Amino acid sequence: MDRVDCIVIGAGVVGLAVARKLAQAGREVIVLEEAEAIGTITSSRNSEVIHAGIYYRAGSWMARMCVDGKHALYRYCGERGIPHKNCGKLIVATNSKETEKLQSIKAHAEANGVLDMQLLTGEAARALEPALACDAALLSPSTGIIDSHAYMLSLRGEAEAAGAAFAFHTPLIRAKAAAGLIEVDAGGEAPMALQCSLLVNAAGLAATNVARHIDGMPIDRIPLAYLAKGNYFSCNAKAPFSRLIYPVPEPGGLGVHLTLDMAGQARFGPDVEWIETINYEVDPSRAERFYPAIRRYWPTLPDGALMPSYSGIRPKIVPPAVATQDFLMQGPHDHGVEGLINLFGIESPGLTSSLAIADHVAELAGI
Ligand SMILES: Cc1cc2nc3c(=O)[nH]c(=O)nc-3n(C[C@H](O)[C@H](O)[C@H](O)COP(=O)(O)OP(=O)(O)OC[C@H]3O[C@@H](n4cnc5c(N)ncnc54)[C@H](O)[C@@H]3O)c2cc1C
Repeated sequence: MDRVDCIVIGAGVVGLAVARKLAQAGREVIVLEEAEAIGTITSSRNSEVIHAGIYYRAGSWMARMCVDGKHALYRYCGERGIPHKNCGKLIVATNSKETEKLQSIKAHAEANGVLDMQLLTGEAARALEPALACDAALLSPSTGIIDSHAYMLSLRGEAEAAGAAFAFHTPLIRAKAAAGLIEVDAGGEAPMALQCSLLVNAAGLAATNVARHIDGMPIDRIPLAYLAKGNYFSCNAKAPFSRLIYPVPEPGGLGVHLTLDMAGQARFGPDVEWIETINYEVDPSRAERFYPAIRRYWPTLPDGALMPSYSGIRPKIVPPAVATQDFLMQGPHDHGVEGLINLFGIESPGLTSSLAIADHVAELAGI
């Protein structure tokens, strides 16, 4: 059986950031990826927003990783010329009840270390975005957008430059932890058996399933997995906004918001649809709920402008009745298996947090 120092399962944005971090720390790394290429699952089915870190529970991993990750990501993109835009976002209140909530959202953001939020009158918000209907707004200047594929290509390139190797079409089938080493059986076109001293499970939606196939991993430390699909609609009319526009959040979701891609094209969503099995179809009838929600802040959205676009699936580890979850990043201290790190529930803001998550994985691994 071949021996390798570190194995990373999954070449999504998180696995790539982890592989780069470990390789640059001088560790020998091989990334096993079931698909044919990097970032084909959740990492290419998201909003590509660099989140500021406004809403997450103060002190949570999401709050900390998002704020740290955001700063690291802007620096990373700036230094390497990776397409991104620090365009900012407006959270818009369309009645007096929502206007009252803006102050508490600002206070919450400040508790998370997001100190640049600005309360705006409706007039001041319209001076920034003339097509906007709102009573008041909260400006988040540090929110932005990124070309996530260019970012992932860069992570892969730097990981490889530091010596990491990638095996595509190579799923982990099972593993066995014993005496400080982990034996991994990988399938696919060229099945292989490897032994490693560090295994990082960054399998995204499949992370709980991968953990269940690691002999020695205590089953009671593996969370249950749930799937929450987010559907997007594109807009065939030119949206007259240059910032991201979010309604005041309602219980259970962020509301139907507008994000922009790097080409300035608007998309709406994601909504929340709990599902039992993975499927990425977007039901066109869901647009009926989007129109009235969007028209609260963009009254002139033309009829028929919304087109079903794409969807992504949030790797949930809490059931629908539980409003929020946190990243669950387990090291040997948490589950007792030497050399194993599990990354569960890495939903949004996982892209923003990816560099900070990689740093944390290195800490858990004692690097
Ligand atoms: C609708 C939606 C919108 C989002 N918007 C944003 C946003 O705007 N900003 C933000 O910061 N975050 C956002 N996120 C979150 C972000 O997309 C994810 O946190 C991030 O992409 C997770 O990356 P990952 O590497 O953990 O998972 P993935 O990208 O899913 O990668 C996991 C990889 O593991 C591989 N794999 C699975 N099983 C195996 C196996 N047995 N063996 C080998 N390989 C395996 C898969 O093929 C896959 O390539 C959003 C998420 C969703 C769902």
